[in-house]
Amino acid sequence: MSERRLYLSPPHLSGEEQGLVAEAFASNWIAPLGPHVDAFEKEMTDYVGVGHAAALSSGTAALHLAMRLLGVGAGDEVLCSTFTFSASVNPIVYEGGRPVLVDCDAATWTMDPNFLEDELRRLDAAGRRPKAVVAVDLYGQCADYDAIGALCERYGVALVEDAAEALGSVYRGKRAGRFGRLGVLSFNGNKIITTSGGGMLLSDEEPLIAKARFLATQAREAAAHYEHREIGFNYRMSNVLAAIGRGQLRVLPERVAARRRNFRLYVEALGDLPGVSFMPEAPYGTANRWLTCVLIDPKSFGATREDVRLALERENIESRPLWKPMHMQPVFSGCRRVGGDVSASLFENGLCLPSGSALRDEDRNRVVDRIKVVARQA
Ligand SMILES: *Cc1c(COP(=O)(O)O)cnc(C)c1O
Repeated sequence: MSERRLYLSPPHLSGEEQGLVAEAFASNWIAPLGPHVDAFEKEMTDYVGVGHAAALSSGTAALHLAMRLLGVGAGDEVLCSTFTFSASVNPIVYEGGRPVLVDCDAATWTMDPNFLEDELRRLDAAGRRPKAVVAVDLYGQCADYDAIGALCERYGVALVEDAAEALGSVYRGKRAGRFGRLGVLSFNGNKIITTSGGGMLLSDEEPLIAKARFLATQAREAAAHYEHREIGFNYRMSNVLAAIGRGQLRVLPERVAARRRNFRLYVEALGDLPGVSFMPEAPYGTANRWLTCVLIDPKSFGATREDVRLALERENIESRPLWKPMHMQPVFSGCRRVGGDVSASLFENGLCLPSGSALRDEDRNRVVDRIKVVARQA
C-alpha cells in the first residue's frame, strides 16, 4: 500500500472557484439564495438548453420535489429504472408511492423501452395509470428518449429524467437534462462537476420550477409574517456553493473530454484481453463517460470481477461493482419488477474503474498493469 490512493471519481477543481467564492464572501451573500444562485441557474439553463432551473441542496432533493410536483401520493405507482443508485427510487417512497422497477437494455444499460411498453400496456388494460416514469441516464449514457417519451405521451404519464450522472452527455444532438417534464442534475462530490453537494431541477414549464422554489423554501407564502398553507422543505442551494458550481461549469467541456479520454485509453489498453468488454455507447448519443465500466467474463478471463476488485484494492486503487439493481436490494424487495436479468448479470460481472478527470496517465497505467497481472495469473 505504498503508492498514493487512486479514487473512483474525486472532485476536480478548475481554479476559478475560489475567486467566485471570495466574491460571495465579500458581498456578504453567505445565506442561501443570492446572485450566484441566480447566475448558476441561468448559466445551467443556457448550457443544457432548457427553459428554467432551480438550484437545490442535492439531486435527491430535486427528485423529491419532482415527485411532489407531479402529485405522487399514497399508493401511486411510479415506473423507475432498476439499474441505478437508490436515490432515483427513494423519493418515490418519500411521497408514499410504489416503485415499479424496470430492467435495462443490454445495448445501452438504460431503461428498456420494450419492458416499459409491456408494463404501460398491462397497467392500461387493468385501468391503472402510473403517476410518473423515472428514466435514469446511467453512468452518463442517456436513455432512449424518443422511444420512452413517445410511450409516456401515448399513455399520458409524466416523464422525469434522472440526469444526475449525465451532465454534458448528448442525445440526438441535445444535452441531457431536458428530456422529461422535469430533469434532475446532481453536483455531489463524485459527479462530473461538484458543488461539494447540490442538485438542480430543470423544466421548460416555468410554473413547475416556480412551485419547486416555493416548496424548497419552506413553502413560505408571500407575506411579511410567516404564512404557510402547504408543507415545505429546506432544499435551496447556498450562494457559496453556487459560486463553486459556476467555477465548475466553466470547465465542463474539458471534464467531459477527460472522462471520455480515460474511457478510450482503458479500452485501448485492456480491450483485447479475453473476457474483457466495456459499457457500450448507444448510437443515438455521446455519453460523458462519467465512470468507465468494464465487464469481466470469468470463464474467458479466468478470474471474477471481485478478484479484480480485490487485486486493485491491494494496490490502493479504489474500484466498485456496478450499481446493485434496486430489485435486488432488500429495502425494495416488496416492489414489483418488470423485465429480465440484464441488470442482475451486469452487476454480477461489472466493475467501475478510477475515472476522475484529473487521473494522470501514470495513474491509469497502474490500474491497467494490475488488471493485466490478474489476467496473466488466471
Ligand atoms: C448521485 C445520484 C443521485 C443523487 O444525487 P445527490 O446529489 O447525491 O443527492 C440520483 N440519481 C443518480 C442516478 C445518481 O447517480
